[in-house]
Amino acid sequence: MSRFLSRHGAKLEPYVPGEQPVERRYIKLNTNECPYPPAPGVARLLAEQKAREFSLYPDPEAKALRQAIAERYGLRSDEVFVGNGSDEVLAFIHMAFFDPGDSVYFPDPSYGFYGVYAKLFHLNPHPVPLAEDFTVTVEDYLGVDGHILIANPNAPTGLALGREQVERIVQSNPDHLVIIDEAYVDFAGDGVTSLPLLDRFDNLMVVGTFSKSRSLAGLRLGYAFSRRQHIAALERMKYSFHPYNVNRFTQQAAAIAVRDESHLRQVVGKIIATRERCYRRLQELGCKVLPSSTNFLFVSHPVLKGREFYEKLREKGILVRCFDHPRTLDYIRVSIGTDEDMDAFLGAVEETL
Ligand SMILES: *Cc1c(COP(=O)(O)O)cnc(C)c1O
Repeated sequence: MSRFLSRHGAKLEPYVPGEQPVERRYIKLNTNECPYPPAPGVARLLAEQKAREFSLYPDPEAKALRQAIAERYGLRSDEVFVGNGSDEVLAFIHMAFFDPGDSVYFPDPSYGFYGVYAKLFHLNPHPVPLAEDFTVTVEDYLGVDGHILIANPNAPTGLALGREQVERIVQSNPDHLVIIDEAYVDFAGDGVTSLPLLDRFDNLMVVGTFSKSRSLAGLRLGYAFSRRQHIAALERMKYSFHPYNVNRFTQQAAAIAVRDESHLRQVVGKIIATRERCYRRLQELGCKVLPSSTNFLFVSHPVLKGREFYEKLREKGILVRCFDHPRTLDYIRVSIGTDEDMDAFLGAVEETL
């Protein structure tokens, strides 16, 4: 470690991303990417991209992209913030709205970055244990004395709160910002997204990403929706840190992707069908599987620990994710791939068991 590392830097516990192997070819079911290509317009854009344009900075306001996203979601473009992946959007949210020492409540386990950011931004984290059945207990978040950050649907469980449940949380915390991270919401069916609540609550912010359902994890695009003044606060942070956070190519590609509704529906439909088939098959094989509102399954088996399960599958060329969290030691998280990928996975599970 560098002898110049700050005391603060030394105290951090950085996020550990899932493996992105470069040598061996695995069937990759470990980081919830989409197994299908992005909207066909993105490939056409790539073919016609004039490299010459890359000598110019991107539009710092990302006007065309924000307009396209706003139209798709029934908002105004000043109610949309975009960032270099939703991880960066979450970082800007922390910078704009949370002061050192503030309390932040988030489910535990959930997306690992929430705890990492709590340390990075000197917050007072309150990880709230999930119920025995891994659901988020709404009552734990009613009228709390801090900010609230909830992934809905949650990861790695795949379980979702209904909109009415989120509404109770938002309503009971009028003086705190409630951030709902909807990275997986496109796989959850109707009744989960909190978007319709934005009209009625000024303390709600909805975060999303193009990394999962829109197959653009490699281009990095995330967004936040909220009232105009809250979006302006995020812009203020962006212009204090990195005004050109979304590159030129991503701005164009994401605008194309967000307009291609039929492609999104097709991809999401395929993934849900594959997910439900795997859910049933894993149960037949004696696994416990949580009902999923996402593009992954959270799976355990009575005799195999999560890490053993992970290692057995890895030997067979299949990458899934296992966890060190005491609550999830028995589990693996399996991203939904193509039907072919999942047949290979199910075959490997059968052999292993
Ligand atoms: C994948 C994921 C993200 C990060 O998405 P990027 O836009 O790729 O940075 C954020 N939150 C949750 C809950 C996720 O699963």
